[in-house]
Amino acid sequence: MTQSGTPLGDTKRTTLHRVPHKEVKDRAALYAILDTALVGHVGFVQDEQPFVIPVAIARDGDSLLLHGSKASRLFKILSGGVSCAVSVTILDALVLARSAFESSMNYRSAMILGRPEELDGDAKERAFEMLTDHLLPGRRESLRPTNAQEVKQTTILALPLDEASVKISSKFPADDEEDLAWPVWAGNIPIEHRYGVPIPDPRMTVDHPLPVYLKEWSEGRT
Ligand SMILES: Cc1cc2nc3c(=O)[nH]c(=O)nc-3n(C[C@H](O)[C@H](O)[C@H](O)COP(=O)(O)OP(=O)(O)OC[C@H]3O[C@@H](n4cnc5c(N)ncnc54)[C@H](O)[C@@H]3O)c2cc1C
Repeated sequence: MTQSGTPLGDTKRTTLHRVPHKEVKDRAALYAILDTALVGHVGFVQDEQPFVIPVAIARDGDSLLLHGSKASRLFKILSGGVSCAVSVTILDALVLARSAFESSMNYRSAMILGRPEELDGDAKERAFEMLTDHLLPGRRESLRPTNAQEVKQTTILALPLDEASVKISSKFPADDEEDLAWPVWAGNIPIEHRYGVPIPDPRMTVDHPLPVYLKEWSEGRT
């Protein structure tokens, strides 16, 4: 295992071989991806069969937090100390080249390898808060507090960000010179990630004004 704070992609398993110039070793780039994304895909093997399961994520320092029901197959297996991989991708643009072959995507992508540890006590309580603040920013103070039964029913795992890699693609089409005169539009189509207009729950019994932080959400996260 590498130490927290070491450069990314420093192990044999996380060194990029294909298009290595897209590798980013800066740990801040990993944090930026994890702090932007809401969902990661967790890969693990059960009885020789690989599975990949989407879950909500949040970062706390040098750990990635995952949470789920105690009854979940995924969380039972992961809390048993098995190795997993978590993949997190933010899609930034379609890159439209003059040929299908050269067309591609711009993205920010991270992969973390390791064995998650189950959190308990104060660490679990803090992780609940970190997850809520990441997934529902500005909302924690006004929500009904999580009760003891809900805490008991939930497994929270922390995956150390010790062994990780980041690959970022940010470019215009890489057409060959001889294709540049081909009579077709070429360029990038940015992909925006933003929240839409809030729709009130029909079961809301009191007429609540829309909080300021919810108006801010619609400004979007990238
Ligand atoms: C955006 C998003 C965020 C989520 N966040 C969380 C979270 O934070 N915590 C959490 O516990 N769960 C979350 N889920 C649900 C999660 O993907 C799993 O369904 C859940 O964790 C149960 O996993 P399991 O291995 O116990 O499921 P099981 O029911 O045991 O899985 C059995 C089989 O069902 C299928 N399956 C299970 N989940 C999915 C799926 N999501 N899509 C398609 N097929 C599936 C697969 O074939 C799987 O092998 C999220 C799902 C999505 C799409």
